[in-house]
Parts: sequence; structure tokens; C-alpha cells
Amino acid sequence: MKTCDVAIIGAGSAGLSARSEVAKKTENYLVIDDGPLGTTCARVGCMPSKVLIQAADDFARREHYEELGIRGGDNLTLDSRQTMKHVRKLRDRFVGGVMKGIEKWRDTHLLQGRAKFVDDGTLDVDGEIVRSDRVVIATGSRPVVPKAWEALSDYFIDSDNIFEQEVLPERLGVVGLGVIGLELGQALHKLGVNITAFTLDKRFGGLSDPELQEYAAGYFAQQFPVVFEGVDRLEPSDNGIVIHTGSTTTEVDRLLLAMGRRPNVDGLGLENLGIELDSKGMPPFERDTLRIPGTSVFIAGDATGDHPVLHEAADEGRIVGYNAVQDESHCFRRRQGLTITFSSPNIAIVGRSHDSLVRDGVEFETGEVSYEAQGRAIVMLENKGLLHVYGERKTGRLLGAEIMAPRGEHMAHLLSWSLAAGITAQQALAMPFYHPVIEEGLRTALRDLAGKVGGERPPLELMRCEDPPIGG
Ligand SMILES: Cc1cc2nc3c(=O)[nH]c(=O)nc-3n(C[C@H](O)[C@H](O)[C@H](O)COP(=O)(O)OP(=O)(O)OC[C@H]3O[C@@H](n4cnc5c(N)ncnc54)[C@H](O)[C@@H]3O)c2cc1C
Repeated sequence: MKTCDVAIIGAGSAGLSARSEVAKKTENYLVIDDGPLGTTCARVGCMPSKVLIQAADDFARREHYEELGIRGGDNLTLDSRQTMKHVRKLRDRFVGGVMKGIEKWRDTHLLQGRAKFVDDGTLDVDGEIVRSDRVVIATGSRPVVPKAWEALSDYFIDSDNIFEQEVLPERLGVVGLGVIGLELGQALHKLGVNITAFTLDKRFGGLSDPELQEYAAGYFAQQFPVVFEGVDRLEPSDNGIVIHTGSTTTEVDRLLLAMGRRPNVDGLGLENLGIELDSKGMPPFERDTLRIPGTSVFIAGDATGDHPVLHEAADEGRIVGYNAVQDESHCFRRRQGLTITFSSPNIAIVGRSHDSLVRDGVEFETGEVSYEAQGRAIVMLENKGLLHVYGERKTGRLLGAEIMAPRGEHMAHLLSWSLAAGITAQQALAMPFYHPVIEEGLRTALRDLAGKVGGERPPLELMRCEDPPIGG
């Protein structure tokens, strides 16, 4: 039997951040992981997907070459074996960075095996008992595969194995167009794979604003076939697998399953903690301390099912690591919500989404801009997109935004920082906007919003000398 102050289940981004905090206070800790090590983000998530998208974007750019007077673009071909090799090479580099960080404590603090709760404070790790004063659950998530389809797994690709493909399939069905389905599906389409996508709704990359949803649906359906119906049935055929929906039948070679991710909490023995689990088997937890009430157990990262993105996993890891070595749990304020889909155009949700504002009955106005006639976007030949920024009706205080725009990732950051500073649309307009930049489109939306809301609007969009400093 081993005993320790803190046991962290999971050596992913959340677990490793938790470890860093715990190690500041005690050397008597264990990190338990049943591998493979290296984190989801570096191995099969954020990083390899961005390498694939970079290759796809670079290759797709050839479509504009003739127009720009650059001849020979039509002769460019793709060696997809090399592309995938490159993805794996950079993936290995990122994983190597993580592994280097683990090296320092691996021999003394890492226990490799699958952890399961025996009770609050006791874990069974492949038959070895670990007693710990505090336990952190940072077990991540995995792709959802419907039970009825499990027997057909030979036809499936998901984010766990896509980067291992030596060659790309000719015809690919993509089920689900949330963040992962859209990023990978569009990238593969740009790399020459015949994509047919299936989605039940128009929440591309998490969009909830009906106007943006319609715009995105029209845009992506022009790029590759999109079936706006659920998949009813799958049937193997002589040449691949046939996808049946209510009104369509499509044969493909493989299927990319991107129907969401499921927290890895089943099989953890949570029922032995003496707490009530919800209908999905999820434990209750305090959102600002990340503690499971009435226990000495904390939960962080994708395992919470709450904010399945890297920076949130890292933040939550820090919170639980900090709290796991305190007498009392501290409450932490969370950052502004920020999710980005690296599609082209980028899609981003900042702060409050449209549906959350409507659901909570918030009185708000929407500032709008289309990127179809935006100067810099035209220069880049990427003039597609729509940006909606939401502000409090009475004051103009910025509340959130939904973005589908070229280089939207950067505007999403500007906006989330503005939200964090609590500024109004009018105050945001007093910031400098260089010319010609994509951000000038954001200024158009802010002007639209400032014209619709109450609150003071300085003349000339410049602060007068007598005005108080912004944020002061
Ligand atoms: C294709 C893809 C693209 C993505 N792109 C982005 C992006 O661009 N930006 C972004 O912010 N986020 C992105 N994400 C999400 C991001 O990768 C995750 O939010 C983040 O990696 C979650 O970290 P984690 O620590 O919660 O889980 P993980 O890193 O998955 O760590 C969980 C660990 O727990 C271990 N484990 C599980 N159960 C047990 C058990 N019972 N016993 C012992 N060990 C166990 C696992 O082996 C694993 O090592 C992407 C995800 C995917 C799949």
C-alpha cells in the first residue's frame, strides 16, 4: 500500500498543472496515469490538428494563384503520405516537450496504472492500494461512439487515430460539425478528400446566433456536401460503408466520428464515494472550487464535461492543485469564456453566447458587420464572414460576441480582454484601429452597437481631456 497527501488521476494538461501547484507544498504526492503519456492536447488534440490545418490552408491557397498572376498553381499536387508524416513529426516534437517536463519527477512520483475509487481517500490502481488525503480527478474525455455502431469500428476514424493514418481515404463521411468535426473535416476537404458531412443542427463550431448559424450553413454547404439530418443507420458495403439518413444514402470509405466527447468518469468507481451522480453518471462539483461536495475529491479539465478546451483544463488544474494542499478550498473567479474553431473563416464564441443571453432574459443589443465588403478581407481574398457583438442595452457594456471571420482568432482575444476589463462599446471605440486591418470590421460592429445602446457616447470616438480614463 502507498500513502500520500495528494493523488492526481491523469497526467494530461489538467493533471500536470495540478501537479505543479501541489509540488510547491508537498513532495508526498502521486500522479497516476494508465497512458499513453504526453497529453491529449499534444498527442491527438490541439497541436496535431493545427499542423494538419496549416498544411491544408497552405495547399488550398493555390486556388487564388491564377487570379494573382502566379502561374502553375494547378500543377501543384499533394503527397498526403508526406503531409501525415509531417503532422506526426511535429506531434512527436510537442509530445517530447511534455515528456521532458515529466522526466524530473517520473521515477519518484508517477504510478502507471488505472485508478478506481474504493472509497473517499482510497484508490485501487491495478490491484495496488493508494491511500491519499486528497484526490484529484483529471481523467480527460474520449470521443463518443454510439453503442449500436461499435461493431463497425473498423470503418471509423476519430481524433484518437486520425493522425496515425498513413494515407488519407478518398471518400469520408464526417458525423458532427462541432469544433472537431469542422476543423478536421474542412482540413481534409482542402487536402482533396471527398467529404460528406452530417449534422443535426447548425451549431457550427458552437455558433448559437441564428443569423450566424444560417450564414455558416450556407457557406460550408457550398464547400462540401452537408446533410442536415441525423444518421439513421450504417451498413457495410462491398466498397466501404453506406450512411443512411431520413432522405439520403451515401457510400464512403471511412467515417470520421466527431459527435462530441465524453468525460472519462465511468469506471472510476465514483459510486463508492457516497455521492449522488446525475443521469449521465457525472458527480456534482462546486464550480468555483472544483471540489466534489462532502468529499476530499476535486475534479478538473475535460473530466468535468464543462469547458473542454486547453486553457480551461490548465486553469482548473491549477485551482484543484492549489486547493488540494489547503485546509479550506478557495473560490476562484473564472476567465471570460473563449472558444475558437480554426476553420476558415475562424469561428469564435467570446463571453456570453447569443443563446445564453436570450435564455437568461438579458436586455442586449447586437452590433453587426459582414466581412464580405471589408477592405483587408478583400485584399486577402478571404472576404467571407459575419461578426455579432453583444452589449447591454442600457449602458453598452460589452457582454459577448459570436464571430465567423478571417483571423477571427485575434479579434476573439481583443474582445475577451475588453470584456474582462468591463468596458463599453463606446470605450472600445476609443482604442486605436490601424488601417487596413481585419479589426476595422470589428470597429464597424462596435459602431453599430454603440448606435443602438444607451450610455454616454464621446464625440469623435475620442475621449475628451476631461473624461475619466478607460477602466480608471
Ligand atoms: C482533435 C482535438 C483538437 C483540439 N483542439 C483544441 C484547440 O485547438 N484548443 C483548445 O483549447 N483545446 C483543444 N482541444 C481540447 C483539449 O485538447 C482538451 O480540452 C485538453 O487536452 C483536456 O486536458 P485534460 O487534462 O482534461 O485531459 P487529457 O489530456 O486527456 O488527460 C487525461 C489523462 O487521464 C488519464 N486517465 C484517464 N482515466 C484514467 C484512469 N482511470 N486512471 C489513470 N489514468 C487515467 C489518461 O491516460 C490521460 O493521460 C482539442 C481536442 C481534440 C480531441
